[in-house]
Amino acid sequence: MIPLDEARAFVLAGCTVGHPRAVPLAEALGLVTSVPVEAIEDVPPFDNTAMDGFAVRAADTAGATDDAPARLAVVGTLAAGAAPDVPVGPGEAVRIMTGAPMPPGADAVVMVERTAVVDDGSAVAVQVEVGPGNHVRRSGDDVRAGDLVFPAGTTLTPAHLGVLASVGVRRAPVHPRPRVGVISTGDELVDGPEPLGPGQIRDSNRRMLLALVERADAVPVDLGRIADDEAAIAEAFAAGAESCDAIVSSGGVSMGDFDFVKVVLDRLGDMRWMQVAIKPAKPLAFGTIGTTPVFGLPGNPVSSLVSFELFARPALRKMMGHATLDRLRLTAVADEGLPRRPDGKVHFARVLVTYGEDGRFHVRTAGGQGSHQLAATAAAGALAVLPDGGGVGAGEEVRIIPLGDLGTLA
Ligand code: AMP
Ligand code: MG
Repeated sequence: MIPLDEARAFVLAGCTVGHPRAVPLAEALGLVTSVPVEAIEDVPPFDNTAMDGFAVRAADTAGATDDAPARLAVVGTLAAGAAPDVPVGPGEAVRIMTGAPMPPGADAVVMVERTAVVDDGSAVAVQVEVGPGNHVRRSGDDVRAGDLVFPAGTTLTPAHLGVLASVGVRRAPVHPRPRVGVISTGDELVDGPEPLGPGQIRDSNRRMLLALVERADAVPVDLGRIADDEAAIAEAFAAGAESCDAIVSSGGVSMGDFDFVKVVLDRLGDMRWMQVAIKPAKPLAFGTIGTTPVFGLPGNPVSSLVSFELFARPALRKMMGHATLDRLRLTAVADEGLPRRPDGKVHFARVLVTYGEDGRFHVRTAGGQGSHQLAATAAAGALAVLPDGGGVGAGEEVRIIPLGDLGTLA
């Protein structure tokens, strides 16, 4: 057996960052910028009002109070999106809505709440003295043309995409999403609704792995379920290596396998067959067909999932240019014992996670810990890391790897 870190390092070394490309903002969410992004326009692009109210000359409001308002003639109205046509002269005001450009001559805005309409709207009584610049948003005070908006290596969030749209950037320079082909192998597998024949099981891994690829922000490509036939397996992997940037397969990598997966992958590619000191997911094959990385994950569904989390997900993140490859590891309190036996392996127990009133995360087992018991794993919010030894006692601390958003933990 080889240690987890060694297997992980070997896998990562076989994966390279994708060539940068400019992609439309609509496709850029979650991707990583490959170069610094500069603004090509000022934001805001012009001086405008932050409030609904009246654009005025600040000097005209000198000494104004509730009891002694300044009376100004209303010479026009400006909505957001309108061009400022009427200038504001001494003793004048223009009614103005949030976001509308400042009209020439005006240097301040009085919010509508501090005014009263007089003479059927032909004049306004301003009840407060304001200084120049009051409620005015200056052009460029968010971002200036030529400014660095984000450095290279920024993971684009919804807010980042909003900023790029605001500065006129239409395509983001990013490392693209890898297309990841997913293959299931094994003669026992069936798809579809037909009744199961003797010895048959339904293919659960393909659906799960396609979804895991999608969750990792890569593009899932369904390469199908391949019967245990040498020619069919060869054809599927060769075609996948051509059309995809990576292949994730499940099944056929454990010791006592009858499958042709090993034979075929050794012929087509440069593979290493590993026994990693972890449970579940001990067997792992990794290598390349041409330059396409191939992840041969074990067939047991829980093993497939854990193997994807520990090896394929970090590798796909590397290919997408992320600096942080692994999920956050947190510390939690085990509310019940998580026992295990010493066997030279690190165990990843599937646990339910809650956030306690004591401000700490708490875990307990998610149920059956067999590597075929996917239903219990589906309920789990995290993997608890149990180093070799006797496990963790009730009330002790344990490291956990949350599998989804922290916000989804109850
Ligand atoms: P293998 O890694 O091919 O030796 O398979 C280990 C176990 O996982 C066996 O019980 C298989 O039947 C099961 N298995 C393999 N592939 C899948 C799959 N795609 N969906 C569900 N179970 C699978
Ligand atoms: Mg098999």
